Amino acid sequence: MAGIYIHVPFCKRICSYCDFYKSAVLTLIPDYMAAIHKELDIRRDYLQNEWIESIYLGGGTPSLLNTNQVNQVIDKISQLHYIAPGCEITLEANPDDLSQQYLRAICETTPVNRISIGIQSFCNKDLQLLNRRHTAAQALASIKQARNAGFRNISIDLIYGLPGMDTQEWQKNLDLAFSLDIQHLSAYHLSIEPGTALSRSVAKGLLQITEEEESTRQFVVLNETGEKNGFIHYEISNLAREGYFSRHNSGYWQQKKYLGIGPSAHSYNILSRQWNISHVRKYIQAINTGSEFSEMENLNAVKRYNEYLMVSLRTIRGADLEVIYHEFGETVYRDFIRATELVKSSGHMMQQGQICKLTRQGWLISDYIISGLMKDEDSRFKIQD
Ligand code: SF4
Repeated sequence: MAGIYIHVPFCKRICSYCDFYKSAVLTLIPDYMAAIHKELDIRRDYLQNEWIESIYLGGGTPSLLNTNQVNQVIDKISQLHYIAPGCEITLEANPDDLSQQYLRAICETTPVNRISIGIQSFCNKDLQLLNRRHTAAQALASIKQARNAGFRNISIDLIYGLPGMDTQEWQKNLDLAFSLDIQHLSAYHLSIEPGTALSRSVAKGLLQITEEEESTRQFVVLNETGEKNGFIHYEISNLAREGYFSRHNSGYWQQKKYLGIGPSAHSYNILSRQWNISHVRKYIQAINTGSEFSEMENLNAVKRYNEYLMVSLRTIRGADLEVIYHEFGETVYRDFIRATELVKSSGHMMQQGQICKLTRQGWLISDYIISGLMKDEDSRFKIQD
């Protein structure tokens, strides 16, 4: 089983925290659509006939596409790949694109069966700080309208750790989110990325970064409020009702193959990783002239091991000792056991049979723990290839 990701890199307005690749030149959409159809043809063999269990239109802003454009790209994928029954097909959307009419058209006339709405906050002050296009009222209305239009698998994104946001305000956002009929929540801590408008405001002293203690409190509130509302906190930044874990993202975390189409999209086939050029015009030109449009990195055993730890320890599935032993050899297995003794005794990791998982305390410092367990490229441990 594998997934296909289509990157739709267009945005009407640039959010103050965003460092994803995107373009505000919407007139390029028709040429871009033609190019992604061509890329799908060019890379038809990448997944080697794996069944497709998830298709994800992400962005950017996929809700800028009309129903014809959505249908055409999904039809194209169906012509080239075997689509598994019940394939999860997600469209990412901005609340202010989601009129009742658009939602009904997407729900009734396309195979999209999951919608992921970039709410970010239900508070106007936060939305202004983030330079989002929508208001709190639009955020709320978009979720209700998605439900009315017939969507039964609705995910929303929220951001916490915002400058000026305290635990009470975050709690209010969460209470409102869980009072709605949503099945999935992605909740990310704000990250101040270089080159963004927010990072410039922080550098000028106009904004204060959230204190670590406050961030920790907000993470704990997320975890506790989610569980109280029947959600499973199945990955550091993701919570869902039973049966509604994101199949697409779970594929990444389970290291299944995926094909990424469009500018800046990444692909992975276990042995290598590939990424497309991050520039819409250059991407379109390269596709149309048959030039190179991506770079590739082979994943040796050290990289595969590090990546395995990185993705598995962020989820409730945890790292499997049997996988470590069989995929990476006895030396690495023994080293992992030795290195995790301290993490377990400090209460940051637990072991159930052959599965080692980070506890909630462990998730709070997951980057630190995981990087401590990773191997250097020139590690003296010989990992078997
Ligand atoms: S809509 Fe999404 S991709 Fe576009 S600027 Fe905002 S955060 Fe970035």
